[in-house]
Amino acid sequence: MPELPEVETIRTYIDEKAAGRRIENMIIYLPRLIKNRSGDELKQALTGRRITGCSRKGKYLFLHTDGAMSLLIHLRMTGSLIYETGKGEEIRAQRIIFMLDTGRLIYRDIRTLGCLWLVPSVGLTGIQGYDTLGPDGNSPDFTAAYLYSKLKTTHRKIKPFLLDQTQVAGLGNIYVDEALFLAGLRPSRRCDAISKAAVQRLCEAIHTVLAEGLANGGTTVRNFIGGSGKEGQNQSHLRVYGREGKPCLACGTTIRYVKLAGRGTHYCPHCQR
Ligand SMILES: [Zn+2]
Repeated sequence: MPELPEVETIRTYIDEKAAGRRIENMIIYLPRLIKNRSGDELKQALTGRRITGCSRKGKYLFLHTDGAMSLLIHLRMTGSLIYETGKGEEIRAQRIIFMLDTGRLIYRDIRTLGCLWLVPSVGLTGIQGYDTLGPDGNSPDFTAAYLYSKLKTTHRKIKPFLLDQTQVAGLGNIYVDEALFLAGLRPSRRCDAISKAAVQRLCEAIHTVLAEGLANGGTTVRNFIGGSGKEGQNQSHLRVYGREGKPCLACGTTIRYVKLAGRGTHYCPHCQR
């Protein structure tokens, strides 16, 4: 699933290419991806509108228009946005096409689990998952003080806590495993048992792994491609994710793989306590 760096990689590209373009028509192959309106309603609200930009919060993309309504998108497992100016040849798994005055913006999705919503351009969206997002894991608002204040009040395990988008937005399975490794924390550690010093390390680790992911254009484990159609490069920089059975890069101990709260989890039993 695309996480903050992957979604941000797409956002940057789409913002650069689609901002200022006018939506002239839409082809909706799979209307059920639009969760709160019909395909016709979406078409009616957005056709003729100019795209003013693309922003991101957590793993959500917000395609802003100059009209009253805009488009909120969650890519889930295999969703992606592509901008292209070719001759209009068919793209694999294309689900919705925005015909622009210059080029086409294509929502593609192999497993079709993505979600699109028509939302007001300003104010609350009414989409619960979006309106309740915590601070982005790479934002200045995500500080050690904030994280400590949240952790000390809960007895949950740290990994599911970090996956909870209302606490910190944008992290998924890959970057949580990476951050916990970097901070030397066992994914099963109880939140309220983590010292202030370790919370400081964890906060820094989260900022670090997200910045690395962004710098490398995202992580491509299965299906992720950026808005330009290119794969990310961060998969070759991962420290622990996907390395089960291999020696820890820090100490040589075999990396372990367990299921934690239903999610595949990688950690070093020596370095992470
Ligand atoms: Zn180790």
